[in-house]
Amino acid sequence: MMIAAPDIQVERSTSSKLPGVVLENIPFGRVFTDHMLEADFEGGEWKNVRIKPYGPIEVDPSNAAWHYGQSIFEGIKAYPLPGGEVAIFRPYDNFRRFNISARRMQMPEVPEEIFIEGMRQLIAVDKDWMPHYPNHALYIRPFMFASDNAIGVRPSENYKFMVILSPSGPYYTAPMRIYVEEQYVRAVKGGVGYAKTAGNYAAAMLATAEARAQGYDQVLWTDAFEHRYVQEIGTMNVFFVLDGKVVTPDLSAGTILAGVTRDSVITVLREAGVVVEERAIAIEELLTAYKAGQLTEAFGAGTAATISTIKELRYKEEVMHFDPASLRMTPMVLERLNAIRYGHVPDVHEWLFRV
Ligand SMILES: *Cc1c(COP(=O)(O)O)cnc(C)c1O
Repeated sequence: MMIAAPDIQVERSTSSKLPGVVLENIPFGRVFTDHMLEADFEGGEWKNVRIKPYGPIEVDPSNAAWHYGQSIFEGIKAYPLPGGEVAIFRPYDNFRRFNISARRMQMPEVPEEIFIEGMRQLIAVDKDWMPHYPNHALYIRPFMFASDNAIGVRPSENYKFMVILSPSGPYYTAPMRIYVEEQYVRAVKGGVGYAKTAGNYAAAMLATAEARAQGYDQVLWTDAFEHRYVQEIGTMNVFFVLDGKVVTPDLSAGTILAGVTRDSVITVLREAGVVVEERAIAIEELLTAYKAGQLTEAFGAGTAATISTIKELRYKEEVMHFDPASLRMTPMVLERLNAIRYGHVPDVHEWLFRV
């Protein structure tokens, strides 16, 4: 149920950290702006929606989110447009996904008046933090967690919703070496794979650490029943160029996070006349195609890095190599997405939400 939000109170910080920050090439996710948004769910309604100086919050040791994991988040970017304007990329898609995660985790939905309008006002208050440089962005992290102070497994009655902002330089990821995971499992049908919930990331860390110890950057998750069908990589959806077509796993099992970047990639590819198939992809199919010279490119897609190329895919004793210098589809997709996000071409999909 949508509940009309009360007005957003603004308490401005008395001194800005900005003079001590170099925005150009700032590393991802380490520096936060001067303000944050906070709202409380109490007595069945959202209240106390406020923008206030960024800083620590007090949390009781019995906080329910810490113990039982009712915690969800989103990742969104706002981009500098020519002429000094700022636009958030597809925030309504993240808003809808946030509430899908909330329902799965038995948490209250956040109304648009708080999620979208709160984010817009927060960015307006901290607008000087937008890095107006090529390939820079302002990363937006909305999140919600249970805030009951009581031990006992049950859905919390109280929640906190917050938004923080982090200026971000070009998020370059070197071409990745990927290990096809066959021991650990990220998501299973009926589980929480489609929710952006904190526990999914904790559950993935051991497998990723073991792959890293062997020289890989990330794992490519496979299905929980047969370890046969590919799912996704870290915080990225995965795409393959197969015989001139592009294939990506479909979302029907609920085991994959429905990425906004994934949807944007599919859209721009189809507009460019490329055939895109969303379907089950067996790792054996990829291997057979690779040996026949038909699997030519592989990449990950997510908000943080946008597109990350894969240079090596290891499955059992087999290694598939992709020469980063010979890619065609991957750079084309990135170029088209960047042109839209930075306002260099008309926004025909209405993906840009001007602040
Ligand atoms: C966030 C995320 C993605 C990418 O989603 P975007 O909306 O494109 O950023 C993919 N997989 C997982 C597991 C994620 O958490």
